[in-house]
Amino acid sequence: MSSLMGQMMRMPLMISSLLLHAARHAGDTEIVSKRVEGDLHRYTYRDAELRARKVAQALARLGCRPGDRVATLAWNGYRHFEIYYGASGSQLVCHTINPRLFPEQIAWIANDATDQVLCFDATFLPLVEKLAPAMSTVKHFVLMTDRAHMPESSKIANLLCYEDLVEAENGDWAWPEFDENTASSICYTSGTTGHPKGAVYSHRSSVLHAYAAALPDAMGCSSADVILPVVPMFHVNAWGLPYSAPLVGAKLVFPGPHLDGKSLHELFESEGVTFSAGVPTVWLGVINHMKAKELKLSTLRRTVIGGSACPPAMMRTLEDEFDVQVIHAWGMTELSPLGTLSKLKAKHQALPLEAKHRLLEKQGRSIYGIDMCIVGNDGRPLPWDGRASGDLLVRGCWVIDGYFGRDDSPLREVDGRQWFPTGDVATIDADGFMQITDRSKDVIKSGGEWISSIDLENIAMAHPAVMEAAAIACPHPKWDERPLLVVVRRPGKELSREEMLAYFEGRIAKWQIPDDVVFIDEIPHTATGKMLKLKLREQFRDHKLPTV
Ligand code: ADP
Repeated sequence: MSSLMGQMMRMPLMISSLLLHAARHAGDTEIVSKRVEGDLHRYTYRDAELRARKVAQALARLGCRPGDRVATLAWNGYRHFEIYYGASGSQLVCHTINPRLFPEQIAWIANDATDQVLCFDATFLPLVEKLAPAMSTVKHFVLMTDRAHMPESSKIANLLCYEDLVEAENGDWAWPEFDENTASSICYTSGTTGHPKGAVYSHRSSVLHAYAAALPDAMGCSSADVILPVVPMFHVNAWGLPYSAPLVGAKLVFPGPHLDGKSLHELFESEGVTFSAGVPTVWLGVINHMKAKELKLSTLRRTVIGGSACPPAMMRTLEDEFDVQVIHAWGMTELSPLGTLSKLKAKHQALPLEAKHRLLEKQGRSIYGIDMCIVGNDGRPLPWDGRASGDLLVRGCWVIDGYFGRDDSPLREVDGRQWFPTGDVATIDADGFMQITDRSKDVIKSGGEWISSIDLENIAMAHPAVMEAAAIACPHPKWDERPLLVVVRRPGKELSREEMLAYFEGRIAKWQIPDDVVFIDEIPHTATGKMLKLKLREQFRDHKLPTV
């Protein structure tokens, strides 16, 4: 007997519908962008929607056909936003490339994705001129600027001007509806090991992610917000904010390439930004600038911090000194990227402040749409007791089930269902708060016991003389591995190895205290702003730990 089917409209979830909604219902709400040139550009959702239609027309005129990839090498800005919608909305696939990757990796990624068009900001002209010959599939190179800013000559033959392309169109074109499972965009993982791998999102997954990300227990976006995504649009679609902001009709502020503490602070203040999002390293810069100049934040009240563990000391500083609520979030490229965010439940409101802090410092609870479990070495699910730690697996509507162009499935079966293994090790408590102990490859394995590098870093970073700290495994003849702490001191601050080690006493079990401390000028970071521990491990592979 067949089931009774629902009799509801089958309206496909289209990315273009987000922008159309904003143009109709928040038509005069602004999108403000700091341009590469340093000036501010302002227009509205109504303008953006019209120009995105023109971009779709222009891409079709260049010969793009459904499924073709349109790549970008660009900062957060209105033209990038238009390409997001113009490409995906016309059944093309928007491929955002991270310009901070090694040049060879950029060319490799463009070839792997078989990009047809590459749109790029003026900042990247020298880079693209160098790479163009190696990008064998790209037929059109588009410089995202106007005629006045086009170079007189370029090594790229037939370099196109973005504004010329847009101005040649009339916008007399309607957003098509098609299968919501069609690919909308591609992001590559940074690939700290091996080649980067492409995650291909769909219209459906992106719209559902945008809905979920905007919920009050997630980013809590509303039409009353002014949102400044510091997280780049080339880093997992700026965590979905270019989709969630139009969904709720919030004003958007794009910082362009101006990501230093001073520029960001000025933009927060001048545009009345209420909500932001970025990786911890970005906030280091903002906090240092505000402290040095004795500045405050008059409108910014919330920020999402994620991408790597947010040090509790940073959360305290932002909350206590600047009145900014930090929402700690965890996610990954393969999850579009949001998985969990840390928000308190009603029953937690009465807890003492310290207990609240301990919960908020965790990576948080999963949003509806993402299910998670932790499994032990035997592959069986572990209890949610906040103590048992195991491999974190997820499944959900915006989790990949394969990588672009690869046949092997990354998924694992647990209890008869397919799960995506995140490569993270975590605990989950009875209330569903997940806490990342480590990335499985960063865990320090000392005599069969695991030491969390994140715990060590969080303690070190709470020391007032520490700017940044990384805990890495150092080979040890007896214990296999022991922790080595690599520290960058705050400018002008003194700190000795002994003082640093003494700071751990009483804050963590004795056997987990690092064996040694080394001071360096700068910790290397990945293209997405995470500490590059692989490089540090190589650098300190032969480090001789003290024997007692
Ligand atoms: P990559 O940097 O390799 O491209 P992603 O940007 O997708 O990959 O990073 C995903 C990983 O970043 C997660 O698997 C996790 O290890 C780490 N991560 C993200 N957010 C957090 C967080 N809040 N706390 C700790 N680790 C995090």
